[in-house]
Parts: sequence; structure tokens; C-alpha cells
Amino acid sequence: MTSTVPMRPEAELLAGLAEYVAIPSDSRSASAETMRAAAGWLAGRLSFAAGRVEETDGFPVVRGEWLGAPGAPTVLVYGHYDVQPTGDLAEWHTPPFELVVDGSVHGGVVRGRGVTDDKGPVLLVVEMARAMLAERGALPLNVQFLVEGEEEIGSPHLPAYVHAHADELAADLVISADGAMWRPTEPSISIASKGLVSMDIVVTGAAEDLHSGRYGGTVANPVHALSTILAGLHGLHGLHGLHGPDGSVAVPGFYDGVDDLSPGRRTEIDAVPFDEEEYRATVGAPELFGEAGYGTLHRLWERPTLEVNGITAGGKYTVIPHRAVGHVSCRLVGRQDPDRVVAAIGAHVAALAVPGVRVEVRVDEGRVPAYRIDPDHPAVTAAREALAEVYPGQEVLLAVIAGTLPATTLFETALGAKTLFFSFATADEKHHAPNEFLRIARIAEGMRAWAALWDRLAAWTPAEVGR
Ligand SMILES: [Zn+2]
Repeated sequence: MTSTVPMRPEAELLAGLAEYVAIPSDSRSASAETMRAAAGWLAGRLSFAAGRVEETDGFPVVRGEWLGAPGAPTVLVYGHYDVQPTGDLAEWHTPPFELVVDGSVHGGVVRGRGVTDDKGPVLLVVEMARAMLAERGALPLNVQFLVEGEEEIGSPHLPAYVHAHADELAADLVISADGAMWRPTEPSISIASKGLVSMDIVVTGAAEDLHSGRYGGTVANPVHALSTILAGLHGLHGLHGLHGPDGSVAVPGFYDGVDDLSPGRRTEIDAVPFDEEEYRATVGAPELFGEAGYGTLHRLWERPTLEVNGITAGGKYTVIPHRAVGHVSCRLVGRQDPDRVVAAIGAHVAALAVPGVRVEVRVDEGRVPAYRIDPDHPAVTAAREALAEVYPGQEVLLAVIAGTLPATTLFETALGAKTLFFSFATADEKHHAPNEFLRIARIAEGMRAWAALWDRLAAWTPAEVGR
């Protein structure tokens, strides 16, 4: 099957994207009016799908639907219109809220905050749908649009909205225009994302900071205590009488629900072209390190992690700090239960029993389990075929988003629908960083691929797509 959707001239889409990017919808700092302006702009582009702005308890969502294909599957296109803060403006080479075309790198890119996360990838679907409808008079399947304005701040009001509107939003499959292809060198589909829990380990000693001369040696130092606790979170190997970290997590129960890497999956990952030295050079570390017994990609895609993200305590002056806080987060895989993981860490920390201080684990609210779609799911098959059509002769990789996308779990519980990631952003396009960009070629490729995907999904029954 070949999709013959004549695409609107790229220039026209870029003109639209320029208007959209110019609305600085940074959900951390923008006014409600600015956020509403961005939502309203996108709703206007969805006029063919009764596009509209709907209220939540936070920033509004953009909704739309075209349901004129009775008997065909229904897909829900998800994305977000909010963007990350700009960060240090001095690091931007061009103004963040101005779409700038730069033909000198990666075969041509556009720059601006939100171009790749997620304004460009959403707009190309919207414009593809409009073009398809204009050309054919109908879409091959039913389409819902749900574009939120709080993704970059953890989607605090999306769950309540989706649960309250679950009947209207009913879909057999969610297709996320958010996410990214793993690398620029070959097309890829992400079949899984990691879960996330985070917490502070708060160690308190005296009532206030104490002079380290006048009080030294008489009370426990919370920084020492916290260091002991943090060191106790990871495993050690014994080597020549010395002990070094072995990359594993020492918390009993942490690995519950994590399956051993099957020989099949190991082989599959080992077949992925991946240059460890190039990766090492890119991150700039003197050497790569991680859980013993696994390669870099095994660890990145299939193994859970526990990271100390930061330590807040004291400073370079002669006191015994009265408080030390360790900021800890875990990326989860498989069937790891977020509640049980945080309970296991709490119990382990308590069991370490450091003397002379009070220790408290304060768990953050958001707890997201890992997510996975079966590689044999009809949606993955359709997506692979669509990408093969747009990128002939190139292997389509099945990758893992080592980050966390809480909406997937929400859609599974509220709508009973799996999520397919189908984004035409690429992971190296400086998401969340200064000088964010999008490869211009991905716009036309993405439009063709979405059209091919919808045509292929339309050949399945709603029950098959909703498996
Ligand atoms: Zn995003």
C-alpha cells in the first residue's frame, strides 16, 4: 500500500510553526493568557476536527476529533503545546521564540524553543490530517486529538481530565507525537519507557549549624551520616581486599519484578549497531560504568537504576551542618512496583541505623511504573511498515525510551488503550536545552509516515488495534 497524500508545501507548515513557536508557552513561567494563546492557536489549526480549548484545573487542553469512519479503529493523537524554560538566554545563538532556519547543519534545521518538543511533531500530524482530508474527503480511521499544556511540569491535571472525559476520549490506540527517534542515522520505534520514583533522604543532627572547633567530636555530622547511607544504596565488589561499587543496587527487594534479560532480547540488543567508544566520547566520561554483567545498551534499555541526583548540605566553611539532604531517583523497568520500591528503600535506609542523627525518607508524589508495548502488537507492525515505506532499505530499530512518559500509564488505566510512540523528533535535537532544533527533512518524512501509519492501521479491526 502506498499513501498518496500530497503534502502542503513545507514553507507553509514552517510559516505556521513560526507563529506557534513565537508564543512562549513555557508552562513553568508563562501567564495563563500566554498558555491559552498557544492552545487557541493550535485549536484554530484543528478546525477540520472541531478543534477547541477545554478547561482543566490547570492550563487548558486542546481537543478535536474527526469520527467519520464508522467501523474503523479510533486513534487518539497525544502531544503537548507547552515548552521547557529557555534556560540561560546567553547560551542561545538565536532568539528562543523566533523560528530560525539554518541550512548549514544536518541537511537543514529550524531552531527555536519547542520546535522538536513538541510543537513541530504535533503540527506535522495536524497538517497531514488536514491535507489528507482535503485530498480524499475522508480520513481512513477515526481520530481524536488531545494536546495538553502541562507535560513539561509533570502533567499534574491531565489524569483528572482524562478520567472525567474517558467516554468522549474512547480510542483503540493512543499515538504519541511526543518522544523522539533514538538516533538520526536510522528510523526507530520506542516500545518501552522506564518508570520513575524520587525522594529526599533527610538527615538531621543538631538544631542548627555548629562551630566545628567548639563542638567538633561531640555530635554526629549529618553529612557523614548521609554519605554512609548513600554509599549503602549500591553494591560493592571485593577485589584485592579493596571494595568498589559494582553498579548494582543493594536495596533488598529493589529488583522484584525485574526479569532477567532473556537470551533472545540480549541477542536482539547486541545486534543493534552501537559504538561504545563513540558513546563514551559523546558523554565525555573517562570510561563507561554500570551494573556488572550487562553491556551499555542492556543497562540503558533494560535495567533499573538508582541515582543520587544531588546533595544539599553545608558548604566550604568550618561548621558541622545540622542537616544534609540526598536527592535520589530511580528509573524502573518491567513489573517493578513504584510503591514497593520506595518502601524497600525506606526500610533499607532505616536498617542502616547511622548513630546520632534523625533520618527521614520523603517520597515525592509522582510514582510512575514502567511501560511496554508488545513488539508484535499490530500498532508496532503498522508503524514499522510505515517507516519502511518512508525510509526504504533502512532497518527499523526497536528502541527503548530510557526516560519516563507518565501519560502512557494514564491512557492504559483510563482508556484501556496502549500507546504507540511515533515522533519525528530526534533525541539529539537539544530537547530542554538551549538551541533546540528540528531537522527540516523530518517534517515531510513525518507527514508521509503518519499517513502511511493511519492507512495501515485502518486495515485492522478496532479490536485488533485495541489489543
Ligand atoms: Zn515532549
